Amino acid sequence: MTRGDDFLVRFWGVRGSIACPGPATARYGGNTSSIEVRCAGRLILFDAGTGIRNLGSALLAEAPLDADLFFTHTHFDHVCGLPFFKPFFQPQNSFRLWAGHLGGRMTLHGVMRGLMMAPLFPVPPEVFKARMEYRDFAAGATLTPAPGIRLRTAALNHPDGATGYRIEHGGRSVCYVTDTEHVPGAPDANVLSLIAGADLVIYDCMYTDEEYAKSYVGWGHSTWQEAVRLCRAAKAKRLVVFHHDPDHDDDRLDAIAREVEAAMPGAVLAREGLTLAP
Ligand SMILES: [Zn+2]
Ligand SMILES: [Zn+2]
Repeated sequence: MTRGDDFLVRFWGVRGSIACPGPATARYGGNTSSIEVRCAGRLILFDAGTGIRNLGSALLAEAPLDADLFFTHTHFDHVCGLPFFKPFFQPQNSFRLWAGHLGGRMTLHGVMRGLMMAPLFPVPPEVFKARMEYRDFAAGATLTPAPGIRLRTAALNHPDGATGYRIEHGGRSVCYVTDTEHVPGAPDANVLSLIAGADLVIYDCMYTDEEYAKSYVGWGHSTWQEAVRLCRAAKAKRLVVFHHDPDHDDDRLDAIAREVEAAMPGAVLAREGLTLAP
C-alpha cells in the first residue's frame, strides 16, 4: 500500500450558503458542503449539503455501510441534502450522526425532525430504513468513532455555533474548519490549536479580505487571506480553500486560486470531485 491509500479526502460539495448550479460554476461545482473521508478502512462523512446526494448515489453499491456523519453545524446549507442521501433508505446500513454545536439546548435528532416536518417537508426522519443513531457532544471533545481513528473538535465562531474537526490517523491529519469568522488581527486560538502542524486544512474562505471588511463583518465567515495567516502561524502544511461564495463564478475562483497559490505554494481550491491524500 502506498502512502495515502488508506487516508483520502474527496469533495462532493464545496459551496457556501446556497447551491448555485449553472454554466458559470460548473468547473468548481455548485453543490453545498459534503466531504467524504476514507480512513483505516472506515467511511467518514462531513456535512450533508446538496453535494451529499451525488455521494449517496456513488455509495449505493457499497451496502452494507457502517459510517459516521459529522456535522459542523445545522445551518440549512449543511443539512438540506440529508433527506436525499439514498443510503439512508437501505435497511442493511448503519449510520451515526454527530453534532457538537447545539449546547444541550436542542438535540441533533430534534433538529432533524424540525427540518423534515410538514409543511417544510413531506416525511419525518423515521422514514429512513437504515439504522440511525444521533449523537450529541460538546465541541472541544475528542471523539473515537472507531479503533485507530481519533477526532479532535473545537468550537468555531459562527452564529448558532459550529464545530471544527481534526481527524488523525497513522501520523497524518486532516482538519475541516467551516463555518467560522475571524477577528482581524487576533488569530482564533481554537483554530490555531486545532490545525497545529496539520497535513491538510480545509477552511472557510467564503470572502476575500477586501469583501469581508467592506460588507461581511458579523456574517460568520472568513477569508482565504486569514486561512493563509492561520496555516502559517500553525505550521500547517497544505491549505484547501473551501465554502466558496455562490457569487464567485469559476473565472473569479481561478483568479483567487492564482493569488492563493502565490501566497502559499501548494494550496488548492476545493472543487467537486477533487481527491486529496494528506
Ligand atoms: Zn455554510
Ligand atoms: Zn453556517
